[in-house]
Amino acid sequence: MKDIRRKTVKDLLSSPEKYAGQEVDVKGWVRTRRGNKNVQFIALNDGSTINNLQIVLDLEKFSEESLKPVTTGSSIHVQGLLVESQGKGQSVEVQANELEIYGTADPAEYPLQKKGHSLEFLREIAHLRPRTNTFGAVLRIRHALAYAVHKFFNDKGFYYFHTPLITESDCEGAGAMFQVTTLPLNNIPLTETGEVDYSQDFFGGQAALTVSGQLEGELGATALGCIYTFGPTFRAENSNTPRHLSEFWMIEPEMAFYEIQDNMDLAEEFIKYCIAYALDNCKDDIQFLNDHFDKGLIERLNFVLSNDFVRLSYTDGVKILEESGQKFEFPVYWGVDLASEHERYLVEKHFKRPVILTDYPKEIKAFYMKMNDDGKTVRAMDVLFPQIGEIIGGSQREESYEKLRARMEELNMQDMPWYMDTRKFGSVPHSGFGLGFERLVLFVTGMQNIRDVIPFPRYPKNCTF
Ligand code: ATP
Ligand code: MN
Repeated sequence: MKDIRRKTVKDLLSSPEKYAGQEVDVKGWVRTRRGNKNVQFIALNDGSTINNLQIVLDLEKFSEESLKPVTTGSSIHVQGLLVESQGKGQSVEVQANELEIYGTADPAEYPLQKKGHSLEFLREIAHLRPRTNTFGAVLRIRHALAYAVHKFFNDKGFYYFHTPLITESDCEGAGAMFQVTTLPLNNIPLTETGEVDYSQDFFGGQAALTVSGQLEGELGATALGCIYTFGPTFRAENSNTPRHLSEFWMIEPEMAFYEIQDNMDLAEEFIKYCIAYALDNCKDDIQFLNDHFDKGLIERLNFVLSNDFVRLSYTDGVKILEESGQKFEFPVYWGVDLASEHERYLVEKHFKRPVILTDYPKEIKAFYMKMNDDGKTVRAMDVLFPQIGEIIGGSQREESYEKLRARMEELNMQDMPWYMDTRKFGSVPHSGFGLGFERLVLFVTGMQNIRDVIPFPRYPKNCTF
């Protein structure tokens, strides 16, 4: 092989005029090989784009025997001339001069032979599914959204704040926790009264994987002003739904001096920014998903961008649901924690656009939310999305030391002196929210199951790969 700098398939296809007529060097995996006795065509993909590069092999130059190992899934290195394509379906192709085979993929064993495997089947081979068009598209979009998250907050002057994954606090009781321990499970040390003796555990107390970085995020915001977290979150709930994972990524901005209106404005601007970023930067991938899975995807994304979110109190929302005449699986009345079917009715049937629901009954929300003057509701805000239901949960936080303390006592909560110090020293009004990253990826890709928008999903009874 000659010493030519390698180009990605994306490089070559996105600026053909720059490379046409030149000798190029490409590497990738064979998607298909077909042809006749005179000429063979390879569709080459290297993950840089959903599109394949066509490699043309003249059988006067390459023996049929030497091409035998070049089957679907094998990896190759090609040098050749980039020329305008004579065939349909591509603008340029490579007329191969040199071919090197890196690795074969025995057709009798390689599972990704034909197109159109079901998503369920692909979940069983999650270690290989990134090689499919669908997962390539989803994972590139996921990357772009992650970048957009950082760009959005960085450009606004927010600081990326790293909160711990192992913690001794259970946040708001936001979810059941996975315990972290090095105690021998077959011989657990007990105290005199027969309880587990955590003083002998690794951290000297009962530790678990975090369900949210918010409480520590508040410590960051009351020092740096505006922060955001973006990291893994763990919930040990037995929720076998298409919207829940046991391990998911959450983005949690927390802002000093923001009140609930500012919080809502930020949430709406943030989601729209991410969607617009993906539309601008992942055109081919979104178009592919639109064409193959969800013909309404691009239209739905543009619709969300061009319409204001509805802002509505929980009380008014419940009234609409009660008067809807709709038969719900779960009953709806003031005080109930809304189910996904209720949220989706408001969004998809009634308003037909995203809704921010505010001022929930205090009983169904976390202890740290700021109490309204009515003494019954708190300054919570959930952002509800079509197809998804809740995509964001947030609130203005209670900044009064006395009120917060009283609420914690009412709920029989353990004291958290380190958290209470935010209210004790220089307390300020502040707000924040949590966006489930995979729910955003779900919405932007139009996929139906959250297990298909993260490379290696964790859910009950599944921790392989
Ligand atoms: P839900 O009612 O849908 O179970 P939640 O109210 O328990 O969610 P929060 O504690 O408010 O969720 O978490 C903030 C955000 O994190 C949610 O709005 C959602 O986008 C996301 N989220 C929560 N739980 C999960 C999960 N198990 N898997 C994926 N994302 C989640
Ligand atoms: Mn919530």
